[in-house]
Amino acid sequence: MAKWVYGFGDGKAEGRAGDRNLLGGKGANLAEMCSLGLPVPPGFTITTEACNWYYANGNTYPADLTEQVLAALEEIGKIAGKRFGDPANLLLVSVRSGARASMPGMMDTVLNLGLNDGTVEALARESGDERFAYDSYRRFIQMYSNVVLDLDHEMFEEILEDEKASRGVELDTELSAKDWQHVIGLYKAKVEEELGKPFPQDPQEQLWGAIGAVFSSWMNHRAITYRRLHDIPESWGTAVNVQAMVFGNMGDTSATGVAFTRNPSTGENKLYGEFLVNAQGEDVVAGIRTPQNITEAARLDAGSDKPSLEKVMPEAFKAFVEISDKLEKHYRDMQDLEFTIERGKLWMLQTRSGKRTAKAALRIAVEMAGEGLITQEEAVSRIDPASLDQLLHPTIDPKAERKVIGLGLPASPGAATGEIVFSSDDAEELKTQGRKVILVRVETSPEDIHGMHAAEGILTTRGGMTSHAAVVARGMGKPCVSGAGTLRVDYRAGHLLAMGRTFKKGDVVTIDGSTGQVLDGAVPMLQPELSGDFASIMEWADRIRRMKVRTNAETPADARMARSFGAEGIGLCRTEHMFFDDDRIVAMREMILSDTEKDRRAALAKLLPMQRSDFAELFEIMAGLPVTIRLLDPPLHEFLPKTEEEIAEVAKAMNVSADKLRQRTESLHEFNPMLGHRGCRLAVSYPEIAEMQARAIFEAAVEAGKKTGSPVVPEVMVPLVGVAKELDFVKARIDEVARNVIEESGTKIDYLVGTMIELPRAAIRAHVIAEAAEFFSFGTNDLTQTTFGISRDDASSFLEAYRQKGIIEQDPFVSLDIEGVGELVRIAAKKGRHTRPEIKLGICGEHGGDPASIRFCEEVGLDYVSCSPFRVPIARLAAAQAAVKKG
Ligand code: PEP
Ligand code: MG
Repeated sequence: MAKWVYGFGDGKAEGRAGDRNLLGGKGANLAEMCSLGLPVPPGFTITTEACNWYYANGNTYPADLTEQVLAALEEIGKIAGKRFGDPANLLLVSVRSGARASMPGMMDTVLNLGLNDGTVEALARESGDERFAYDSYRRFIQMYSNVVLDLDHEMFEEILEDEKASRGVELDTELSAKDWQHVIGLYKAKVEEELGKPFPQDPQEQLWGAIGAVFSSWMNHRAITYRRLHDIPESWGTAVNVQAMVFGNMGDTSATGVAFTRNPSTGENKLYGEFLVNAQGEDVVAGIRTPQNITEAARLDAGSDKPSLEKVMPEAFKAFVEISDKLEKHYRDMQDLEFTIERGKLWMLQTRSGKRTAKAALRIAVEMAGEGLITQEEAVSRIDPASLDQLLHPTIDPKAERKVIGLGLPASPGAATGEIVFSSDDAEELKTQGRKVILVRVETSPEDIHGMHAAEGILTTRGGMTSHAAVVARGMGKPCVSGAGTLRVDYRAGHLLAMGRTFKKGDVVTIDGSTGQVLDGAVPMLQPELSGDFASIMEWADRIRRMKVRTNAETPADARMARSFGAEGIGLCRTEHMFFDDDRIVAMREMILSDTEKDRRAALAKLLPMQRSDFAELFEIMAGLPVTIRLLDPPLHEFLPKTEEEIAEVAKAMNVSADKLRQRTESLHEFNPMLGHRGCRLAVSYPEIAEMQARAIFEAAVEAGKKTGSPVVPEVMVPLVGVAKELDFVKARIDEVARNVIEESGTKIDYLVGTMIELPRAAIRAHVIAEAAEFFSFGTNDLTQTTFGISRDDASSFLEAYRQKGIIEQDPFVSLDIEGVGELVRIAAKKGRHTRPEIKLGICGEHGGDPASIRFCEEVGLDYVSCSPFRVPIARLAAAQAAVKKG
């Protein structure tokens, strides 16, 4: 018999933390906490395998599931001394989803399950609190109707608002048991009106409805979007957790809250969290009431006048602090905890590794390594390389004038400026027009994910540090200010009221997610400081990694920036990018459009000094580090004059008629420029171009070598080689120029000549190419293009559909197609080494900055990766992680 259900409770559990694939994160950790002897309400987990079975079998359950669930319910009852559905001894349960990876707010939860017209009276009797019982029942109807019966949440909110208005009260807590009974009557009538049948009264029916809803929610729109954004496979499925209810809303000695063992925003080693007295879990997250701080220190920091948990429930607080310490040490990571206090008794409902900002992740990793809790290797492995992007976010210049129009919570760091929009659809639309927006909402919900993605930053007027907006924005690395209570959003009027002023859609504001300020207009920003914890992690990463990290750069500014980010040389200098400046493009056009070698040489002579000084500057900036300069690569038509003005200008410089020039331009037209006259084919047709470039490189090397006092060893790279003889031909020209420059200057020059491997033929013939090539640099942009036969410039229009239809998992131009393109890289590396064991191997396609591709490069044993300057820190970290993984 297959085991679909795993029980836990009373210090014992059938599962363990390591079973997260089977039990989901929540289920596995509940089991683990139970085994650690922590106070966890008894319960059971239905496995992710049951979920997969459900989908594989037309949304039905395995035959033996019912029996196993009933047995597990009995067991919970035994532990709790209660029985499900028994008014004499009432057991109520919660039903929650729990996938392998945490998907916050994506899946649905039902609380207080088992209540009906009869059991609610039992609950009132047992608790001695009628108001609590009816409040719980109405919450249950509301949640169940929404999650399981698929009725709109708003319908119930409206009934509730009407009730409060007719009673003349503002807060839910001001409604009496009688009022709730009245609301319940209206809720039930509404359900019957909408569905044509009454709200289910049978607890068993309720339970199976909720289990089915959790399974179904795995395929709801929000979950599908979240999975797509986070690369979570559909095949993982979700588990279902059924657990005895404990109540945080049983009066003023009860409470519910969420906490992080360290501050998730800054990483500071201080318990950080929020709670609400007399409330159920969803009240904290929904941001309807503003929560209180857990510790007294945090309360003072926040300047809150609402008492802390430490103050109001010192016993429970003490127990909670001990447990959170224990859990952090046990898991050796910062934990995100959920708890409930029922009449003074603390219950743990969840623990998991807490989401954190990149800044917090660095601090936590560095400090935990300092505390001896983890090794430096682990610290380095714990940082998501892509998240370093967040640290490269600008912050507001401290000298800038701040016209503060509102203040909220500093929910996610960094600052952002943009036009106000009030809906996620508007955010998305303006983004596609290339505009920057700040999404302004009362609060966000999972329906806003696309708008949050599109926005530069998020501003909400309600909700705490753990509200949906705050949690999701931190995960995305977007600046967010939440709970800015002094601002008023009026969706209907389409405006935001702040300090007596009205801001409309399109007005520009700045939010500072590090202070919680909302500012009028755009404000000057500063680039971030990459010192402190960032520097420590980078230092450790540099010690651990084997591969070098270079940068793709051709301008001095990019080269300097890359150096400041730790680049160890230039892996790709695309010389064609150096010809677009105003003063060069005309000479370049003259060169291309010349009819004779003599004219071409004359134009090249004008370009030579410019190239030489560019290269000399790059060599100086790189101060002895390797610099790979690639000979001219792209199709010449990219440089052709297009407008009449441009044609006239070049015609004049060349002393020919505009007509003649136009004819020559037309004759250079190609149907498929990417597969046309480009790369080394240009050097084969016009060797004088390669000769001029080689001369510029060698003369610059001599010049820079003299200036800096350290010899420069340039690496000359020939692009788009497919046939070994192409390289032989070009290399012969390069070597000749080198001999000449050495003779003329009387200076010895060490240099390498190598090639890009960016055509399948080159990969397959790499052993022959390596006879001349002293290095290979994998040009995986072109190699992907030519391996797939997909144009790199046109791919995005259809690749997204391929992704959505599951034909490909990842855009192969973003993350290397390891099975296909990667196989060619492996072949070329092996064959190249066979001919020339010491051959230098690197990668300079976009993949050189992608962590998954970098892992592959480590496996193949490349010597270096090269990427754009902003990705250098990401690559340094990813290379270290790859080395740790390889062991
Ligand atoms: C490549 O093809 O991967 C490469 C780095 O060259 P480019 O992108 O300039 O074609
Ligand atoms: Mg290329």
